[in-house]
Amino acid sequence: MKLLFEKNVKGSNNFRFPIHDLPEIDLQETLPETHWRETSLGIPELSEVEAVRHFTELSHYAFGVDDGMYPLGSCTMKYNPKINEWAAIQPGFANIHPYQPPETVQGALELMYELQLMLANIGGMTRFSLQPAAGAQGEMAGLMIIRAFHKYNNDEKRNIILIPDSAHGTNPASASVVGFKVREIRSNEKGRVDLEDLKSKLGNDVAGLMLTNPNTLGLFETDILEISELVHKSGGLLYYDGANLNAIMGIARPGDMGFDIVHYNLHKTFATPHGGGGPGAGTVGVKEFLEPFLPNPTIEKMADGTYGFNNNRPLSIGKVKTFYGNFGVCVKAYTYIKSLGMQGIRQACEQAVLNANYLRHHLAEDYDIPYNELCKHEFVATSKKQEQFGIRALDIAKRLIDFGYHPPTIYFPLIVHEAMMFEPTETESKERLDDFIAAMKQIAKECRENPELVKTAPHSTIIKRVDETRAARTPILKFPNNCSDRN
Ligand SMILES: *Cc1c(COP(=O)(O)O)cnc(C)c1O
Repeated sequence: MKLLFEKNVKGSNNFRFPIHDLPEIDLQETLPETHWRETSLGIPELSEVEAVRHFTELSHYAFGVDDGMYPLGSCTMKYNPKINEWAAIQPGFANIHPYQPPETVQGALELMYELQLMLANIGGMTRFSLQPAAGAQGEMAGLMIIRAFHKYNNDEKRNIILIPDSAHGTNPASASVVGFKVREIRSNEKGRVDLEDLKSKLGNDVAGLMLTNPNTLGLFETDILEISELVHKSGGLLYYDGANLNAIMGIARPGDMGFDIVHYNLHKTFATPHGGGGPGAGTVGVKEFLEPFLPNPTIEKMADGTYGFNNNRPLSIGKVKTFYGNFGVCVKAYTYIKSLGMQGIRQACEQAVLNANYLRHHLAEDYDIPYNELCKHEFVATSKKQEQFGIRALDIAKRLIDFGYHPPTIYFPLIVHEAMMFEPTETESKERLDDFIAAMKQIAKECRENPELVKTAPHSTIIKRVDETRAARTPILKFPNNCSDRN
C-alpha cells in the first residue's frame, strides 16, 4: 500500500482559506529571514475523496474486537458496548473544558466522584484518583505513594521493590522510573510466589511488594493472606497490579487480601476500546491511611452537596497528568459499571473465568498446558507438543490470523518457554469459542501433517510474515523524501 506522501498529486487539494481582512504584516520585521523555510513543507496534496479512500483502506488492514475474537492474554480485549461511546459523546461531557469554573460542570464532577467511589467499592479500597492515563502510569503513581509514605515515616532507606519473575514488564520498569531497585521473587513449581524465597528477600530495605493476583499465568495466589502478613510485618506495603480485574471483580477484593494500593486499567476491565495507543485510564486507589498521598487535586463532595476540587493536600505526590485524567474514558467506565450493576459485574467475571476454563480444557487435548489446573480469566499454553514438527508459538499465532482470529499473547510470561497466553473474555459466546477451538485443532493437525503451511503463515493477509524486531530496532519514523521533491 502507498503512503499518503506517495499518493500526492500537486494541485489536487482544492481547499482554500477564506480571504482574511487583517492588515498586512511586515514579514522581515516579524520573523528574521534566517528563520524562513527554504523549501516547501512537503505536505501531501490529495482530493477529499482520495484522502477518505486512503484511510478507509487502512482501516481494512486493521483488526479489532469488532472484527472478531481477540484472545490476547493480559490485555482483556473484550467487546465494548456501544452505549459507552454514546454516553461519552454527549455534548455535556464531550464539549466541556477543564478550565471551566466547577459550578458549570457539576455533572462531570459528580460522575468522577461517583466513579472513584464505585471503583473503591469494587476493590475494597477507600479512595481512587482517576488521573493516571495508563496502567503503567498508575503503577508509577502508586509507587510514588509508597515512596512518599516511607519518607513521611523517616524510613527512606527502603529502596527495594519486590517483584515476582512472572510479573508484567511494566512493573519493574515503573519501579525503576520511580527510583527503586528491583529484587526478583521466584515462582515455585505451582506457578505461585515462592514463600521461602519471599521470606529470604524481605528486610528493612524493602519498600513493598508488587503483585498481580491472579498472576500472569492466570493462577490465583492462594497464599495471598500469608504473603500480605509477611510483607506488612517487615514494614513494607503491598501493591496490587489490577490491570485485569476481570478475574475477580464482584467476587474478591484486593483490599480484603491486604493490598494497600491498587491500580486498574479502565481500558481493559471497564470496557474502553484500547490498543494502538490510547486514550486509557490507569486509576490508582489506596486504603485510608494513604489517602493524603494521592495525586492532586482530589474531587470532593462539599457539605452543601456540590462538587469541587481540593488542591490543599500537602502530603500529595502532586499531579501526574494534566487536568483530571482522560475524562472520556471515565464516562465510558461509569456507563459500563452502571449499565451492568454490581450483579452484572460479578456475572461478567464469572463468565470470563468460565470461558477461559472451557478453552483451556479443550485446548489441552492438542496443546501443552504447563499449569493445567483451574485458572481465572486467562491461561498459558505452549507449543511444546508441536516442537517435534519444527513449529514454534509464533507460527501457531500467525496461522490463527488465517482463520480470522487475532493471535494470543506469545512469549509472555517470560518464565514459560514458547508461551501462548489466551484470554477469551466474557463477551465471547460458547459458539464462538467452539469455532475457535476447532481452528486451534485444525492448526494442531496441520502442524503434524503439513508444518510448512503453518511455518509460512499468514497466507490470507496483505502483509505476510514480518520481521518481528526490525520495526523496534530500526524504526523509520519519517518518509525519506519530501513529496515536493517527487512532483
Ligand atoms: C496491560 C497491563 C499493564 C500496563 O497497562 P498499560 O495501560 O498498557 O500501561 C500492567 N500490568 C498488567 C498485568 C497488564 O496486563
